[in-house]
Amino acid sequence: MRIPENKIEEIRSAVNIVDIISEFINLRKRGKNFLGICPFHNEKTPSFTVSEEKQIFHCFGCHSGGNVFKFLMEYEKISFIESVKSVADRLGIQIEFEDQQNPEKQSEQEILYDVNDFAAKYFSDILLNENEGEIGRKYFHRRKIKTQTIRAFGLGFASFKRDAFVEFAKNRIDLEKALQLGLIGKGNEGHLFDKFSGRIIFPIDSPNGRVVGFGGRILEKSEYTAKYLNSPESIIYTKGKVLYGLSHAKDEIRRLTKVIMVEGYMDLISLFQNGIKNVVAVSGTALTEDQVSLLSRYTKNVVLLFDADIAGVKASMRSIEILLRKDFEIKIASLPKGEDPDSYVNQFGREKFDDLIKLSVSFHEYQTALYEAEGYFTDSSRSAEAIRNLVKSLSFMEDELKRNFYIKNISKRFGLREKLLESELDKILMKENRQDKSPKEKTQSYKVFPNKEIKITPEVQFLERDIILLFLSGNIDLIKFIFNHISPKDLIIELNRKTAELVFEEINNKNSFEVASVIDKIDDEELKEYLHKLSIDKYSISSSWEKLYPGKDNYSVLSKVCMDTMKKFRTVQIDNQINDILVQVKDATSEDQGVELLHILNQYHADKKRLNEEFI
Ligand SMILES: [Zn+2]
Repeated sequence: MRIPENKIEEIRSAVNIVDIISEFINLRKRGKNFLGICPFHNEKTPSFTVSEEKQIFHCFGCHSGGNVFKFLMEYEKISFIESVKSVADRLGIQIEFEDQQNPEKQSEQEILYDVNDFAAKYFSDILLNENEGEIGRKYFHRRKIKTQTIRAFGLGFASFKRDAFVEFAKNRIDLEKALQLGLIGKGNEGHLFDKFSGRIIFPIDSPNGRVVGFGGRILEKSEYTAKYLNSPESIIYTKGKVLYGLSHAKDEIRRLTKVIMVEGYMDLISLFQNGIKNVVAVSGTALTEDQVSLLSRYTKNVVLLFDADIAGVKASMRSIEILLRKDFEIKIASLPKGEDPDSYVNQFGREKFDDLIKLSVSFHEYQTALYEAEGYFTDSSRSAEAIRNLVKSLSFMEDELKRNFYIKNISKRFGLREKLLESELDKILMKENRQDKSPKEKTQSYKVFPNKEIKITPEVQFLERDIILLFLSGNIDLIKFIFNHISPKDLIIELNRKTAELVFEEINNKNSFEVASVIDKIDDEELKEYLHKLSIDKYSISSSWEKLYPGKDNYSVLSKVCMDTMKKFRTVQIDNQINDILVQVKDATSEDQGVELLHILNQYHADKKRLNEEFI
């Protein structure tokens, strides 16, 4: 089912986000925006902001944000289509759905989602209702999983018959798509067979709750088959970008501003059933950077709760590094030997489990205890190795204050001079910097473009921010004015440049610019959040601008600011070029070269003069 794009646009532009959100939350006007208590996390002072002008909301506490549809999806826990429909109903707008008769008009992605939905329902049906599902029901019964929980997670069972799904599906869906999604396989003689037969099925959801793939677990240990089988990657499923259970957990994660990370599907499901719902599972793969980025949209407080075995410890250590790099606050909870979260919560119950989480320690204490337990500190050479490793972990942190805190900690604990530890840390940091010259790994606070040394002064930051805010004003004349003077690639901070490219494209293609709809189309979550935040920035420049130009209307203020910003921005650009030339003049090897450089220099000075005349 799909709603035509232009219809969605029509509905979006007809509704006022403030009216819709006010149905659920008390909003009070504050300056240009509306403010209220955030429904998505626990707070006492309001940080949930709604911009009537931009038609979006953003919470400065939990970073949730989006347009009116996003709000309804999150608040009422409904799908995108349902949210569009619900707004349309309020406005009395009729929606005719596309492509009911016309399946080929459905997007490739939608078709694959539908095939997964179809399969999920088939597996769930077997588990809940069919005779051949009995063995699966027994399994879950043994694992103390209730029917209600089975339904909540859409758990299923695949028949032992090798082509049961193929037979069931062949006249109902396009088997090519099922092949593409790895639900079925093709034998050497071209015969089709079920990939998941005889397995317990765990549907894997996207954060929005759509089934992107499946995990299948065998019932009994066997040397011939892997314990777990996962769907292969497809255009709707990238393993390293999905966290199992996130769609169920995200609201609770926001509410409690904390997430518990476990290893397996069953761990998560058992905890959920026991009322512990802020849980995600890494399951199968080692934690990836993408997964951590995804999680950081909901919280930066994580408790790792991995199995009490060597694999679990290794997984914890690896995860710590990735989480530290993304500035997470990490705690580690330890289970008694031989237990996993599933067995623990079933045996000891919710209260004991909560105690376990309360007893979790910082990553630093955890690592120290680990080296201690392995006897590192009893002999001096291994002791040095352990301390070096502890210091190395600190090098993953971006925040210098935090690093200093831990340096003091190590110094006190092991009776070492802080200076010594600091110099050790410096050595590691320098080595790190030399090693990750690749732009992808560069985790400075600003990514720059082009990939050369450019100093990003506060002035440049402010100017670029003002340019973006001018874009977000949505005023097409001003935006065109800007692009008459600069091109998107002139912006050196990556997020700003990406934004400029997007706006430039939109203006060229449509000759119009609607902020909410453009932001909505962005895939890049980091960029999306950045723009939401800027759109509703508490320190929005427009208010400070108005102070500078009292009594003027909004448009003349904006155009004055636009002129100012362009003039300053171009001046900085030219100054940079002049400095560049001056360095070259110094290093010039021949007179000819020197003369040529001076000639260029003169041109730049002329440019600057013209600039001063052009913008008064
Ligand atoms: Zn919030």
